[in-house]
Amino acid sequence: MLNIVIFGAPGSGKGTQSDLLIKKYGLKHVSTGDILRFEIKAGSALGKIADQYISKGHLVPDEIMIEMLEDLIRKNLDKKGFIFDGFPRTVEQAKSLDELLNGMGTSVSAMINLQVGKEELVNRILKRGKTSGRTDDRNETVIRNRINIYNRKTVPLIKYYEDQEKCICAEGMGTVEEIADSLIDSVKKLAVKK
Ligand code: AMP
Repeated sequence: MLNIVIFGAPGSGKGTQSDLLIKKYGLKHVSTGDILRFEIKAGSALGKIADQYISKGHLVPDEIMIEMLEDLIRKNLDKKGFIFDGFPRTVEQAKSLDELLNGMGTSVSAMINLQVGKEELVNRILKRGKTSGRTDDRNETVIRNRINIYNRKTVPLIKYYEDQEKCICAEGMGTVEEIADSLIDSVKKLAVKK
């Protein structure tokens, strides 16, 4: 299996780049943010809980996220691999993902780190908020809160994957195609190395 963690701050282009990698490799896209938004729209119990965190720009608790992910992976074991978009966001989640994949005889193949400057992120998200329908994309305080939480809780994962020699650093600026080409190149090199 080819399992890619697509990593970066809110607004770094994870969703866009995931779409291109999915087309290229036929992977199952796992976007935890999309799943939570679906649950909120459906008015489910999980959605109601998640909404309380998402609307403030906070992270949904690890236990909830890990259980959700476990369920999803188990239902998709026939796939060629996964692209994890928005998960893991904490070291706890990364450890659980490793355990889960290891238990299934597979592992994270690569983590792609999309790097974009802070002000560019805020501008991109505000722009996206005009059409995305996401309330957490419209309020600048919530956006800055999401970026701060990313820096505090999610950035330590870069070292986590660097220590495992799985980190591919990608320039998140440039055209979508330029970034995608360089990512596909890196994934190929990594796949050859293994
Ligand atoms: P995203 O679409 O990935 O930007 O996620 C939107 C929001 O959903 C985040 O700001 C969090 O509140 C929540 N969320 C998504 N994925 C996770 C995760 N892995 N852990 C905790 N919260 C998450």
